[in-house]
Amino acid sequence: MNIILLGAPGAGKGTQAEVLNKDLGIPTISTGNMLRAAVAEGTEYGLKAKAAMDAGALVSDDIVIGILKDRIAEDDCKNGFILDGFPRTVPQAEALDAMGVKIDKVVEIAVDEEIIKRRLTGRRVCLKCGATYHIRTKKPEVEGICNYCGEKLVIRKDDQPETVIDRLNTYHEKTAPLKDYYAAQGKLATVQGTDSIPDTEKDILEALKG
Ligand code: AMP
Repeated sequence: MNIILLGAPGAGKGTQAEVLNKDLGIPTISTGNMLRAAVAEGTEYGLKAKAAMDAGALVSDDIVIGILKDRIAEDDCKNGFILDGFPRTVPQAEALDAMGVKIDKVVEIAVDEEIIKRRLTGRRVCLKCGATYHIRTKKPEVEGICNYCGEKLVIRKDDQPETVIDRLNTYHEKTAPLKDYYAAQGKLATVQGTDSIPDTEKDILEALKG
């Protein structure tokens, strides 16, 4: 099953992708995590992507489509995958269609914007394995340390308050039109992302059956 999680930054796509990955036994593909790893490694496309990411803007479609295409060609994607953070523009969605990738379901996680702002500014991440935490709602077992790999947790540069506003504007302008795109294909389901993590997970699993 090929699934897209759609939603504003901070809607909980990454958190739900981690949970669903265990439920469904298919890998999560987060273009944001892949780009952050590329920036950390200083690869060619990492260097190209860094300025846009720091500013809360989108990385160019051709770079992101290229890395996504390579990733879904890997062996572990044979039985399906969960896309977190891709597509983020209509041309990216069209590129998936043009590659012949069949998307089974697109689940939008809807969250009120004020809640999103609070969530993003309290978020802490592990740059090594991509796990995400929150200082109030999803604390690590040891403060400031990743549960999975023991790495020190950090605040993402683009979770600074001014950048969060730019990211939300970018979402409305470039990504929100994907709701109509996938609704027209009969693939869109919307769940509320303000319940607890397990409740939202249950709603998503229910939506995937429909
Ligand atoms: P995320 O972790 O999904 O919030 O992504 C972090 C940043 O990476 C975004 O603000 C963009 O700058 C960039 N990015 C991630 N995925 C995409 C994408 N599909 N298209 C363009 N830029 C992306």
